[in-house]
Amino acid sequence: MDELFFKEKKCLLCGAKFKSGKVKRSKQYMLKRDSDFCIHYRGENPAFYNVYVCPQCGYGFTDNFTPPKEKEIIKIGINPLEVDLCSSRSVEEAIIAYQTALKCALLGKERETIIAGLYLHLAWFNRFLENKDEEMKNLKKALEYYEKAIESDRDLENPATVFYLIGEINRRIGNDKKAVKFFAHIINDKKINDPNIIRMSRERWQEIRASR
Ligand SMILES: [Zn+2]
Repeated sequence: MDELFFKEKKCLLCGAKFKSGKVKRSKQYMLKRDSDFCIHYRGENPAFYNVYVCPQCGYGFTDNFTPPKEKEIIKIGINPLEVDLCSSRSVEEAIIAYQTALKCALLGKERETIIAGLYLHLAWFNRFLENKDEEMKNLKKALEYYEKAIESDRDLENPATVFYLIGEINRRIGNDKKAVKFFAHIINDKKINDPNIIRMSRERWQEIRASR
């Protein structure tokens, strides 16, 4: 438990104040990062704690959520959880927390990139459990929402990263042709100048070529 510190949060739905665990920076031991940005840690994984679940009303949210407008719709759709998600979380508990936030994000019509990000994390957590079917299912949902995000007129915060993730998720689910289209776009688009994303796109494209 000394890996965690507690941060005070205010529920965006009911206004209740509660404390939620976070992993201390000095206790984060990164082992490796997968090509879709999933980071593996020895010990506590800080990503498990990005979602807060209000113990009063059961609303789940992250620091990126916007305060919900249609509160009544969400209130009807959620219930306080029986499990305590405010302190140390197992992978399974992190999955429950993210599923809760996902439900609230869908009810509250959050931005597509936020919904996609929650699905992507659920895919990663199932990867840790070697639960391939659930990993793939969540990757496909993440892809669906990243695609919606680029189709909508809303300005994306990190367009290069979203394009890369669309390419990379397509590659992971076996849609090589579509993956190549997105990697090629990143490499050729003069407006994209993120050297890291361009390098990673070249690497993935190379891997697809090599696997043929
Ligand atoms: Zn609440």
